[in-house]
Amino acid sequence: MTMRSGVSIIIPVYNECDNIAELVRRVVAVGNTLDRPWELVLVDDGSRDGSSEMVTELAAQNQGHIKALLLNRNYGQHNAILCGFAHAQGDIMITLDADLQNPPEEIPRLVAKIDEGHDVVGTVRMDRQDPLFRRWPSLFINHLVRATTGVMMHDYGCMLRAYRRRVVQAMLSCRERSTFIPILANMFAKRTAEIEVRHAEREHGESKYSFVKLINLQFDLLTCMTTTPLRILSYAGVIIAAAALFFAATLLVLRLAFGAEWAGDGVFTLFAVLFFFVGAQFLAMGLLGEYIGRIHADVRERPRYILDRIVGETMGEVHTSPMQEIQQ
Ligand code: UDP
Ligand code: MG
Repeated sequence: MTMRSGVSIIIPVYNECDNIAELVRRVVAVGNTLDRPWELVLVDDGSRDGSSEMVTELAAQNQGHIKALLLNRNYGQHNAILCGFAHAQGDIMITLDADLQNPPEEIPRLVAKIDEGHDVVGTVRMDRQDPLFRRWPSLFINHLVRATTGVMMHDYGCMLRAYRRRVVQAMLSCRERSTFIPILANMFAKRTAEIEVRHAEREHGESKYSFVKLINLQFDLLTCMTTTPLRILSYAGVIIAAAALFFAATLLVLRLAFGAEWAGDGVFTLFAVLFFFVGAQFLAMGLLGEYIGRIHADVRERPRYILDRIVGETMGEVHTSPMQEIQQ
């Protein structure tokens, strides 16, 4: 397979009308410096602020380079990107955010890294321009992901990433509905690399992730990656039960040795123990619920999205890899 292959740049757009013009101008400028065919795939994730009309118009004006995919409602960033993947034609696929936090000027460095033979290229945001309440949990989560997956990537939250087509096809053939693309990709990648990129403040508008959506995303990340928490639940259950037995035995010994008042004085301790158990049970049920909810969603096999229409033709002549690459 030739290394000189087409590049698809996939950008999910959700209510980003103030950023789109500048974003597209900068991406097109970068695209034109690439020494190979390229396309920009803008996926409108059910915007209600005029972004859909803007991407439609841009696609109509830039036939041959820009394609707009319009989802009928908001399905979330990761589903929007998966839709972009399904309709992109390049052998190298790049994702980035529409809010200009990821500078498009970094794209050629990602492409060069893929050319070196990597399947997935991640990025680390230098001097990340996000609030503390986003950065600190992110440090913890990245650490957890590294420990669980064994893949030494340092910033799973940064969506400026590059993928080889075969990895993307493997991801598309997954039937799960709740997913976290960077982790899923690493499950299919043979060689991964990571480079440092600049990070800017959001140009216009606010983050599209509310607190609830962020929590939901972390659960998607966790359940996409591992079922270890289920096992930890059983370990924790065994440890708690053993501790309770030990505690009961201690109480019994104290009562036999020093009389009833010694055990009687422990009433409040027993209350504390009871509350601890109740808490542990609720936590366990909540975690089980997270998994069961996702199993439920998968069993129903709802489509990930409904694509209203596709605007624009791009890269008609570009060679795309055959499907059987997934089975390699
Ligand atoms: N986004 C999307 N659908 C959503 C939420 C976000 O397509 O439901 C897009 C959004 O337009 C942006 C990218 O995903 O291009 C990242 O969103 P945002 O910048 O709000 O996330 P943050 O940088 O705060 O993590
Ligand atoms: Mg952002």
